[in-house]
Amino acid sequence: MSCEHFERDLEAYVDRELDAGAAMACRDHLIDCAECCRRVAERGALGRLVRSAPFYPAPDRLRTRVSAQMRRSNSVRRVLSWAAAAVLVLAVAAGSRRGDQP
Ligand SMILES: [Zn+2]
Repeated sequence: MSCEHFERDLEAYVDRELDAGAAMACRDHLIDCAECCRRVAERGALGRLVRSAPFYPAPDRLRTRVSAQMRRSNSVRRVLSWAAAAVLVLAVAAGSRRGDQP
């Protein structure tokens, strides 16, 4: 495994999201690579720092507004998806009708 490959898998390795084979390949790489060991240590330190940061729950009013906005966004996205599908169907139908003409 190269350092570039390890760097791609670094987050998943630290978060223990890799399958057994990929995790073993990462561990094998770390045996011989001080630079990637340093990256793992830095990532671990960052994770500990984030977990130690104070957590403040959002006020109920903000939570309600964000939830409402997300529901609206999902509705708009759904309508746009249907509109795009309808345009595609119309374009294909128009194209096939043109193809029917001599
Ligand atoms: Zn490396």
